[in-house]
Amino acid sequence: MLKRNSTCFQFKVLLVTKKFSRLSRNYSQTFNTASEATLQVELNQLDKKWIDKWSSLIPKEHPHSINPLKFINQENEKKPKLYTLSMFPYPSGMLHMGHLRVYTISDVLTRFNRLKGFDVIHPMGWDAFGLPAENAAIERNIDPSVWTRENILKMKEQMKLMLADFDWEREITTCSDDYYKHTQKIFKLLYENGLAYRSKSEINWDPVDQTVLANEQVDEEGRSWRSGAIVEKKLLEQWFLKITDFATDLNKDLSLLEEWPEKVKLMQKNWIGESHGVELTFKLTNGNDEDLIKTFTTRPDTIKGVQYLAISLDHPLTKKIMVEDDALQNFIKRAEKLPEDTKEGYLLSEIYVKNPIDPLHNNIPVFVAPYVLGSYGHGAVMGCPGHDQRDYEFWIENASNQPIIKIIDPSDPNIKVDVNKPYLGKNGVLNQKAGKYQGLSVKEATSQIIKDLESVKLGQKVTQYRIRDWLISRQRYWGAPIPMIHCNSCGIVPVPDEDLPVLLPKVDKIMGKGGSPLSKVDDFVNVKCPSCHKNAKRETDTMDTFMDSSWYFFRYLDPKNTEIPFDKLKASNQMPVDIYIGGVEHAILHLLYSRFIGKFLHRIGYWDSKMNGEPIKKLITQGMVHGKTFINPVNGRFLKPEELIYDSSETSPRIKETGQEPLVTYEKMSKSKYNGADPGKTIAKYGADSTRAHILFQAPLTDILDWDELKIVGVQRWLRKVLNLSHRISKLVKTETVLEKPKILNQDEIKLHNDLQHYIKSVEDSFTSTSSLNTVVSDYMKLTNSLISSLDSSKVSLALIEDAFLKLLIILSPVTPTVSEEAYEIYCNNLNKNWKSVLINQWPKLEPVIESDSVNYSVMINGKFRFVFNGKKSLYKTQDQNEILKEILYLKEGQKWLQNREIKRTIIKPKMISFLVNT
Ligand SMILES: [Zn+2]
Repeated sequence: MLKRNSTCFQFKVLLVTKKFSRLSRNYSQTFNTASEATLQVELNQLDKKWIDKWSSLIPKEHPHSINPLKFINQENEKKPKLYTLSMFPYPSGMLHMGHLRVYTISDVLTRFNRLKGFDVIHPMGWDAFGLPAENAAIERNIDPSVWTRENILKMKEQMKLMLADFDWEREITTCSDDYYKHTQKIFKLLYENGLAYRSKSEINWDPVDQTVLANEQVDEEGRSWRSGAIVEKKLLEQWFLKITDFATDLNKDLSLLEEWPEKVKLMQKNWIGESHGVELTFKLTNGNDEDLIKTFTTRPDTIKGVQYLAISLDHPLTKKIMVEDDALQNFIKRAEKLPEDTKEGYLLSEIYVKNPIDPLHNNIPVFVAPYVLGSYGHGAVMGCPGHDQRDYEFWIENASNQPIIKIIDPSDPNIKVDVNKPYLGKNGVLNQKAGKYQGLSVKEATSQIIKDLESVKLGQKVTQYRIRDWLISRQRYWGAPIPMIHCNSCGIVPVPDEDLPVLLPKVDKIMGKGGSPLSKVDDFVNVKCPSCHKNAKRETDTMDTFMDSSWYFFRYLDPKNTEIPFDKLKASNQMPVDIYIGGVEHAILHLLYSRFIGKFLHRIGYWDSKMNGEPIKKLITQGMVHGKTFINPVNGRFLKPEELIYDSSETSPRIKETGQEPLVTYEKMSKSKYNGADPGKTIAKYGADSTRAHILFQAPLTDILDWDELKIVGVQRWLRKVLNLSHRISKLVKTETVLEKPKILNQDEIKLHNDLQHYIKSVEDSFTSTSSLNTVVSDYMKLTNSLISSLDSSKVSLALIEDAFLKLLIILSPVTPTVSEEAYEIYCNNLNKNWKSVLINQWPKLEPVIESDSVNYSVMINGKFRFVFNGKKSLYKTQDQNEILKEILYLKEGQKWLQNREIKRTIIKPKMISFLVNT
């Protein structure tokens, strides 16, 4: 333990002099704290400097790489693999704030894991097929491939400027034929395994974009996710993928996804919609044995209350009757345009069905109703207006003159149910209208009714799913052609593997909307049948772009393979994706399709999996970035930046015209709200490090981030502190001849040591288990401040400070690589050391925390708290009053309150020392 110079200490308080020797460790207190002002680094100038310097350390074949660590360390084979992936962007030509957020998260995690010794796979590519490119091409009359390529180049450059370190050697572009060749192969595999089929089916038609939409692309209001138009129903021959074949596994295996957000799993669960119920058969009263309607219900207990059946617009019975029923034909035409939740129905005259449990009840009417989906169940539902809200509403609309029948009463007689309203409760008792089931509880009735149905062979237990097969046909140009040929003699014939890819033909002008653009390209359409060699026609639909992105994470592992989509061994070794980062808006569509294709490829032996073909182990969904939005309080109008004027403090603007203060909110960025922020401009103004640290610091990563550029100064102030600290420390180290770590640490040294261990551990935890990247930045700031106070106190060994500082530079390099490097270069230059990139390092090893033998005592003088004294814990045990006084009088505070005073009494408690003195 440190020995303090106590030679001048005299026991008598009155004799205490001012000659207190301030503890000096191995360096002298001569540095100049004013140097802070002398260093005014332009943080935005560091980006170019360091990108150039790093490039000089990276082999020339990797012009877009910026992290030398990956190339310098040659022992990658021995390192554990870690696959980190962020959702690839659509190449619109411009990174937006959402991209900046997700790629910053992905980049810092990757840089951290590389320092931790992982061989990280961190690829990037382009989700390049799809409507925006096609629409842009039509508007500007340019080739979508040219437009896409130009945009990719721009965005690649922007990613470099944000210092995102991707494995560009793995880059893929879904619209290149060397990629979609394999998308076509996977389609063929699905077809060969009976999972791709063509069916004439009711589809969602977007009247604005003139294309078919998947169910997932229609929102709750029945509008297109892209154009916003009310979606219409049409019957078209379409390609489907049988995702329903995997519904059981997709539902069950959600339990394997322990590192997925619960919210996303719940959304998937609801989408898959597994329900257990009974399949029922209703026989037509006037028909023969084949005339029956199958339906599904989760409430067999209500079967005695059935008052009608409703069948879909494309039910076989509907089709049969409509041939001779003009009114029905007209109804169906009209119904295609009705919203999904419409209550309209068409009563089929003279058609009745029998209740399967009660054949005497044989006058149940049948309606054709748009609310019944052809693809769910059997396209028919039983209607119990007495016990189902939707059935009730339908009944009121279509048969209001007939009362509803209720066969279940609440078990609790105190619950009163309006006689004209349905009873929706599930805890009830069947009443006399339920005939022989009277008196049974819902649960008892359910099992008895299932038994009875089974005995007459008119019902059986089944599991039903809400999810429907994936419609992948698109009548658009810019997508992967479906590799199929229609032959009059042979039917549908797949394009042989050796003829893949089916190239998307170049066209002078995309025809725009309506029908398949490819159907107008004769050279493309007319083809010989691969089987009989007669004239045949190609399929002219292209694939949904979600098909391209459903398997891309496999391709990254083997991006140059010209023969097969990917090598089995590579996929088996490196899948699943360890960390997948992207927006929660992909919680259903993309992730569900990816799980489906991952499971399919596993099922057919394309890769080995320990998670039943699940492709993604951990999922991180980052929140959206909202923009600062100014609104005129008088008329509610959004204000443009040029309509505002800022005062000198630049924080609170006023409206130029009126001088009023605008309302300030944060909302989803959009052109109409003038609240967009351009990541490129922010980086150019503040530098990449400040922008990255700011975007992480402002909100927990799953929360919405309110982007306020003005707050970035806080991060900048901290980064300048780090650079200043490098100057101060290196100048001191330079003047020091002996620089050794003390064998025994004093209290301040213990504090710095423990702070360092604490923050390394905390940052590490945030990067690994908790993903709380906002606290990472605040931990950096706290450790920086701890170093500054250690230096200022001059009680801490310089060797310890130097060591802690160099470790700080390593641990902050994932977030702020240029400041780390700059600070390290300053240090090296001042010490005439050779600079070697700080990125080429290992994450600091944690050392044990040193148990401090000191404790903070509150010092009370005459009953009043005056200051805190950090002294040995043993003082309480020994009650050594002389020792205490001696220690306290080293402190300025101690001198202030006790010097030249007569101490009458000293009381020592575990955390408090109280002096009674004469005033
Ligand atoms: Zn043929």
